[in-house]
Amino acid sequence: MSRKTKIYIVGAGPGSTQLISVRGLQILQQADCVIYDRLVNTELLNLVSENAELIYVGKEHSENKPSQENINRIIIEKSQVYKKIVRLKGGDPMIFGRASEELKCLIDNKIDFEIIPGITAASTAAALAGVVLTDRNTASSVTFVTGQAADGREVDIDFKSLVKLSGTIVFYMAVGNMQRICQRLIDSALPADTNVVVVADASLPSQKIVRGTITDIARKCTESGIEPPAVMIIGKNCFSWFEKLPLFGKKILITRDLAGDAEFACKLAARGAHAVEYPAFQLRDLTDTQEFKEIFKTIADFDWVFFTSPRGVKFFFRAVEKSGKDARIFAVAKIACIGSQTAGELDNFGLKADLVPAVYTSEEFAKSFIKDHNPAGKKILLLRSALADSELMEKLARCHAQVKQVSIYSAEKVKTDVTALAEQIRTEAIDWITFASSFAVDCFFEDFDAKSINKKIKIASIGPSTSDTLRKLGIKPTVEAADHTIDGLIEAMEGVTEPRQ
Ligand code: SAH
Repeated sequence: MSRKTKIYIVGAGPGSTQLISVRGLQILQQADCVIYDRLVNTELLNLVSENAELIYVGKEHSENKPSQENINRIIIEKSQVYKKIVRLKGGDPMIFGRASEELKCLIDNKIDFEIIPGITAASTAAALAGVVLTDRNTASSVTFVTGQAADGREVDIDFKSLVKLSGTIVFYMAVGNMQRICQRLIDSALPADTNVVVVADASLPSQKIVRGTITDIARKCTESGIEPPAVMIIGKNCFSWFEKLPLFGKKILITRDLAGDAEFACKLAARGAHAVEYPAFQLRDLTDTQEFKEIFKTIADFDWVFFTSPRGVKFFFRAVEKSGKDARIFAVAKIACIGSQTAGELDNFGLKADLVPAVYTSEEFAKSFIKDHNPAGKKILLLRSALADSELMEKLARCHAQVKQVSIYSAEKVKTDVTALAEQIRTEAIDWITFASSFAVDCFFEDFDAKSINKKIKIASIGPSTSDTLRKLGIKPTVEAADHTIDGLIEAMEGVTEPRQ
């Protein structure tokens, strides 16, 4: 390995940890020091080596924000200590990333460096809002402009020339001076009905999109409570190619755990729908119980280990990691997964399920397992949620299997302020309420009265047992997912256009 220190200026991408480049991620994992900015998703830092030093240099709006000189000083100082330093910046480092100042410092101090590009906020926002930035017939150029000068004030740019280009304009740092920027564009002869899309927190579960014209966008953004970071895209092409998708513009309530179901929200955003989040419960890890610890030592003695949910797989492998062991603890034990998502999660840990039943309910699973794998005398371990019923265990035990079931996680209702949501439910300000489990149904109706749900709001259930729980409360699901997964839930909603009866 070279003895020379190298600084890697890495673009972290706009928000989602999935949007860093492969090379960026590799270098990040090898780094012995990471100096990172405010807009970098800190989840990326979980991927850095445990021994690496992490230095935050982005205290925006704070007295203690390190000046550029201080950041440069830190870089120089650390280059004398470490060999592989990552300077991690949000989006792309070469776009509004103050890269010039840092590159000058590196060159002046003869420090070796490499720049690894990142996905910039403009292209992320465009992709996620379904807006095309250039079009060979209608927009021959795209201009990236800052909405704020270095001192936070409005920038001094030639608005007339900007408008004359007739291309797409993307304002970064757009929130603070939005009203003023729009007015200056109108004053510079931009037609008052020009389309505008503002995207905040692009690629994150909290992503928000506001659409309007140059005349009303600032007001609409204030009304929607848009906060930085956001980009404003202006131009003829600022209509969305998602408009024709069935869930476009729909507001969909997702009942989820506190830690967040980013996957569901992001999948909805990619279809032009808005996720309205209702954090109703939190998950509790039960892998530190004596019962689990005992069984953990004997996993290899079982003929079959069953996982019943993707969450269960996650909690289990966290425990494996903590114990310093790896997937070999299963030895020859076979693994069954209820549901393709559970099997997919297992795959993330490098293991292929031996059995994934086509039908996902416990009842159907028990039936097909008993038929194909004669359970008599077999040792079977069920790793499941504390909320699951004992149906599967009982059915297998009746066939003389030696079944042991252990809860590896549980869910608990949390108290949240639901005043605003209650109003949305009453007034049909949302289009769908989704339920991904019976427990989510119970949590929801602890907070809301079934009668208060506006009749026009449609209800989506993930599967038969969730639907049963709903029916017991007098709620008829508008749709039930054929595939009992989040994708199935989305597909079921996409198939419906009629209001609830
Ligand atoms: N180098 C970055 C830009 C840094 S300037 C890049 O290439 O994206 C900071 C500005 O970037 C923010 O004020 C906002 O306008 C934009 N931005 C960064 N992350 C964003 C996100 N996730 N969603 C929307 N805009 C974002």
